[in-house]
Amino acid sequence: MDIQRVCVVGGGTMGNGIAHVFALHGFETTLVEAKRELADKAAAAVAKNLDRQTAKGTITAEQRQAALSRLKTALSPAEAKGFQFAVEAVSERLDLKKQIFRELDAAAAPGAILATNTSSLPVTELAAVVRDPSRVIGMHFMNPVPVMKLVEIIRGLQTSDETYAAVDALTRTLGKTPAVAKDFPGFISNRVLMPMINEAIFCLMEGVSSKEDIDTIMKLGMAHPMGPLQLADYIGLDVCLAIMNVLHEGFADSKYRPCPLLKQMVQSGRLGVKSGRGFYDYPAK
Ligand code: NAD
Repeated sequence: MDIQRVCVVGGGTMGNGIAHVFALHGFETTLVEAKRELADKAAAAVAKNLDRQTAKGTITAEQRQAALSRLKTALSPAEAKGFQFAVEAVSERLDLKKQIFRELDAAAAPGAILATNTSSLPVTELAAVVRDPSRVIGMHFMNPVPVMKLVEIIRGLQTSDETYAAVDALTRTLGKTPAVAKDFPGFISNRVLMPMINEAIFCLMEGVSSKEDIDTIMKLGMAHPMGPLQLADYIGLDVCLAIMNVLHEGFADSKYRPCPLLKQMVQSGRLGVKSGRGFYDYPAK
């Protein structure tokens, strides 16, 4: 199928970045948000980030203008009707995502591909709510979307070879590099990353080292751009805990048990950068 029209549902951190990248690469893009003010806020975020790219010389003023002219907003998938491709990027809740998938299924053009940007929920289970699950796939963009090159593609149990090939090609059209994983808990990215972060928190809890030294060892010794505790603060400690719980429940294996200190940090409201305090302090600017 020739993909020209794209629908992105959810205009938060990830959704506005995904809409940005599709519009910039020539797709007629409709960004769906739950409320008018949120839709306007998401469109303003795209405009601001395009401005930033223009100022840096990454894109030209003409490319910026063309991208903006291809971007529309709507308040439901039904309003965006007739799209050939959709990416769902709403909050990480299975019930909400299932509802969005039903709405996308009803509003899409025949044969359209429906993708989810979920970090951890089962693509196979989401696919089961639409008429043709062979056209459902995971397209896991990384944050910040306009900058990060990777798209982790997740094949659900029912995803067809045609759907996978189309999404692989689409990822390359967006200037990104695809890497594929099967639909097992955490896929590859979070199955490898989160236990490392969790282990760093165990090391801190057990007093093996200080937070600064744990981060320094991983930064300078392993050439990681950020230490695991600082990275956890940026991701959000609640998000880290939720993903550890998905791994723990999904594999029923104690090696994925969330560190008690991680649980405590979340219970206390120390969620990282977004709450002003996590393993480190982030005073309001
Ligand atoms: P976010 O909270 O910033 O954005 C979610 C958006 O969904 C909000 O703007 C909300 O208003 C909107 N929304 C909720 N219900 C809606 C509805 N019925 N219709 C339309 N919009 C609705 O969250 P995020 O960080 O952008 O995450 C979105 C998805 O991307 C999640 O599945 C998350 O796991 C995944 N993800 C996040 C990251 C990250 O680093 N933040 C990275 C990769 C994947």
